[in-house]
Amino acid sequence: MRLTFLGTGTSFGIPVVGCRCPVCTSEDLRNHRGRHGLMLQDSEGTLLIDTPPELRLQLLEAAVSHVDAVFLSHPHADHVHGIDDLRVFSVHGRSSLPVHVAAEYERELKDRFAYFLSQDAVSTPGTTIPGVELVLFGDREHIEPAGISMQVIGFPHGTYRSYGFRTGNLAVVVDAKRVPDDAWDLLEGVETLVINALWFGKPHPTHFTIEEAVEVAQRLGASRTFLTHLTHKVDHADAERRLPDSVHPAHDGLTIEV
Ligand SMILES: [Zn+2]
Ligand SMILES: [Zn+2]
Ligand SMILES: [Zn+2]
Repeated sequence: MRLTFLGTGTSFGIPVVGCRCPVCTSEDLRNHRGRHGLMLQDSEGTLLIDTPPELRLQLLEAAVSHVDAVFLSHPHADHVHGIDDLRVFSVHGRSSLPVHVAAEYERELKDRFAYFLSQDAVSTPGTTIPGVELVLFGDREHIEPAGISMQVIGFPHGTYRSYGFRTGNLAVVVDAKRVPDDAWDLLEGVETLVINALWFGKPHPTHFTIEEAVEVAQRLGASRTFLTHLTHKVDHADAERRLPDSVHPAHDGLTIEV
C-alpha cells in the first residue's frame, strides 16, 4: 500500500500569512506545508484522509484523477473545508462518493454544508454540487473504505474527538492530544506510525508536541514514525537532525510504501 502526505501543516498552513520568520521565508520546499491531508492507495482503491482547504491543489500536485472513498477525522475547518473539491469526482464518474465520518459529526457536517448534504439538497439545473454519501461509523468500529480494512480509533482533541485508524501495520493518529488507555492494545505491533505534532517544547491543550509524539512512537516501538500537522516553529532540516533515527518530519508530497 502506498501512503502519500498531501498536506503536513497545522491549521494556519506554512507560510503563515504575513509571517517573515525563517521557516515561513525558507527556500526549502519541505517547509511549505498545506493543511492536513493523506492518501492511501492499494490495488483495491484510492482513499483520501480529510479534505483540507488546499485539496484541489494537493490533488493536482499528486496527479490524482480518481478517488474511491474519503475518511474524515473530525470537522475542524483545516480538515474538511476543501470538501467541495470532491465535486469533480461526481461530475466525472460516480454519482455518489462514500465519505466516512463519525456518527457524532453527521449533524454538524449537514448543517455546515447544507447545500449538498441536507435532505432536500438539489443543484440548480446546469450547476453541480458534490455527489457524496455520508457513511457513518462509531469509535472502535471496523470499516472498509475503498476496500481498505481499518480499525477506527478515536483520540481526545480538546472538545472534539478526532478519529484515526489502524490498517495492517500502519497507524494514523490525526489531531490527538493523548492515546486513550484502552487504545494502546489496538496499536500494538504497529510498524509505521503517522502522528500529529506541533512543535518542540511547550505543551498544547489539544495536540501532541513533538516530544509527546516521540514518546508515543517509542512506547509502541514503531520502526518508523512520520510527524505531521507541524507549525512554522519547526524547520524541516533542523527537526531531522534533532529527532531519533526512526522519527522523521513528513513533508507535502512525501510518499512511502507501507
Ligand atoms: Zn488540524
Ligand atoms: Zn512563520
Ligand atoms: Zn483539529
